[in-house]
Amino acid sequence: MPKPVLIVGAGLSGAVIGRELAEAGHVVHIIDRRSHIAGNCHTARDEASGVMVHVYGPHIFHTNDDEVWRYVNRHMTFMPYVNRVKTTSAGQVYSLPVNLHTINQFFDRTFRPDEARDFIQSQSDPSIGEPVTFEDQALKFVGRELYEAFFEGYTRKQWGCSPADLPASILKRLPVRFSYDDNYFSHLYQGMPEHGYTEMVARILSHDNISIELERNFVRSDAGDFSHVFYSGPLDGYFDYELGRLGYRTLDFEEFQYDGDYQGCAVMNYADADVRYTRVTEHKHFSPWESHERSVCYREYSRACGPDDEPYYPIRLSGEQALLAQYVARARFEQGVTFVGRLGTYRYLDMDVTIREALDTARSCIRAFADGLPLPAFNIEP
Ligand SMILES: Cc1cc2nc3c(=O)[nH]c(=O)nc-3n(C[C@H](O)[C@H](O)[C@H](O)COP(=O)(O)OP(=O)(O)OC[C@H]3O[C@@H](n4cnc5c(N)ncnc54)[C@H](O)[C@@H]3O)c2cc1C
Repeated sequence: MPKPVLIVGAGLSGAVIGRELAEAGHVVHIIDRRSHIAGNCHTARDEASGVMVHVYGPHIFHTNDDEVWRYVNRHMTFMPYVNRVKTTSAGQVYSLPVNLHTINQFFDRTFRPDEARDFIQSQSDPSIGEPVTFEDQALKFVGRELYEAFFEGYTRKQWGCSPADLPASILKRLPVRFSYDDNYFSHLYQGMPEHGYTEMVARILSHDNISIELERNFVRSDAGDFSHVFYSGPLDGYFDYELGRLGYRTLDFEEFQYDGDYQGCAVMNYADADVRYTRVTEHKHFSPWESHERSVCYREYSRACGPDDEPYYPIRLSGEQALLAQYVARARFEQGVTFVGRLGTYRYLDMDVTIREALDTARSCIRAFADGLPLPAFNIEP
């Protein structure tokens, strides 16, 4: 009997790779150190209210990838959902992303689209040539007033530093729309799994060739019992943090319940620097096809990730890039392990990208297994 394959992590990466391998005839064992499957997409119903809660923060599925959209719909019915985010700034509620409504409300005007475009252009700081920092980029795109109202405080809270210390690349495109379109995403497909992400992942994992073991932490000596390891845990954690820790931001969620409708939308950002939380999530609005009297809300706080915290957002500034390069070099010397997913490759990945990469990784590894070839440490460059 050939040895089974070990997958570390029962998040989307591990589940999709596991399913593809299982369908190709491989026997797959999946372990996760948490007490549940689905990784950071985990959803669970709050017992008292029945509300479906996005336990590790709000997750909205959106993609342009036809195959990925078919893949998730094969395992779960997706309900129509459009992400419409609001933000509170200096005591007023505005619509995000900054759009014609936001501009007209903020400047107390009634601009048509091209008038608004000209006006915003006139706000741009002409002294900025090629923007180097996030702050330069924002001042060039939207001018000081919109920058201070909507970007500065929020970014400072989210990243724990001044936007003047972040690279311009974080704000890649013009964060303003000259129309009343307030759909946060511009992808072709968008939706919410009817019974939550955890049920969707459970269905992906439901295959005779897959076994799952929860509350089991991977140690490198486990690998010997398996033909290959797909590792979706933290890259630095695999090496016991021997070279130091890759920097992450972590999140704290302060849960509270409310009788009725707390804020009338799923996500309300708080742009002001003196409000310590970045946003409030009201989970029942993620399932608009359900009806619940009580409400479950999370106040979300961002801070530097310590050794005992959940790593959420990789920081990937120059210091982290240097350490990442050292870990990547070490990983390439390892035999029999492929690093996958957001933690294994130290990148922020949306769910659709995670699934796309997992499908591609599994398929190329299935071909390599069949041809008796060694599998690479990385199928996708970190
Ligand atoms: C706050 C937040 C909001 C997000 N919102 C969205 C959104 O709206 N839309 C979207 O498309 N994407 C969103 N994402 C991204 C989404 O969460 C990821 O795409 C997805 O979780 C990646 O799946 P993964 O399997 O690679 O990683 P994970 O979900 O992190 O799974 C990795 C698993 O490995 C386990 N593990 C780690 N180390 C070990 C070990 N040593 N031994 C055993 N098990 C281990 C972990 O417990 C975890 O379950 C968001 C992410 C965050 C942080």
